[in-house]
Amino acid sequence: MNNKISFAQKLKQFFKSLFKKADKLVFPPNIKCLSCYRDLPQKQEIELCEDCLKKIRFINEDCCCKVCGTRLKQTNICSNCSKNKRNFDIARSVCVYDEIAVKLIINFKFNGAPYIHKTLANMMAEKYLNLKWKCDEVLFVPLTPKKQKKRGYNQTELLAKHFCEKLNLPLVCDAIIKTKETKQQSNLGFVDRQENIKQSFKVTEKAKIKGKNVLIIDDVFTTGATSGAISRSLKDAGAKKVFVLTFASTELKNQFEFIKNDKKDK
Ligand SMILES: [Zn+2]
Ligand SMILES: [Zn+2]
Repeated sequence: MNNKISFAQKLKQFFKSLFKKADKLVFPPNIKCLSCYRDLPQKQEIELCEDCLKKIRFINEDCCCKVCGTRLKQTNICSNCSKNKRNFDIARSVCVYDEIAVKLIINFKFNGAPYIHKTLANMMAEKYLNLKWKCDEVLFVPLTPKKQKKRGYNQTELLAKHFCEKLNLPLVCDAIIKTKETKQQSNLGFVDRQENIKQSFKVTEKAKIKGKNVLIIDDVFTTGATSGAISRSLKDAGAKKVFVLTFASTELKNQFEFIKNDKKDK
């Protein structure tokens, strides 16, 4: 009798392991480059092949604006930051918003590929550690409920969630809301962009912000209008310092070209 049971159990185990193997064959783990879709040798933190990774233009501290992190030939203060007072204390981006970065962001934001967030957030986490910033908590850029419903997800929330899990930082989800739908930022210059988005964010829980060093996570830094408007609200609510970390930032000479082309900007 005992032998029979053990035989039955063995049989069960055999089929279980067989199904597991078959499952892996039918549903292989997603190990393709997110940019060129070439197979990757194994599952990796940053799901990009070597060739695509080489094409990304990373922004280092020795070649960016000290304030907003826009890529420059050497460390300096860019024309936007020297002419206008920024509401945030410091902003940095992982890379320049061109070629591979544009492709990743467009697919992530508009083509229904939210799974791209892990690779982007992992790269942002690496940047955060290199910068040695000490932030108390993390916020993401809220969308109006209407916009979120239309897209199905808030892309910056996905980024921030994974970023916080990775670095074990507290994520504050409900302290700030977007109160009005802003008109499309396309064809607007630096000043008009700031004006358009000004006062469209509201801090609903000041206690969560007061006296804190807050980090805002966003996908793309263009003129900094969005992060600037959020920073203003956070500072008004008593935030000590506001840091901004984005995946990519447009180059100065390209900024207004991107504004013109980016019809779907928030
Ligand atoms: Zn590739
Ligand atoms: Zn700057």
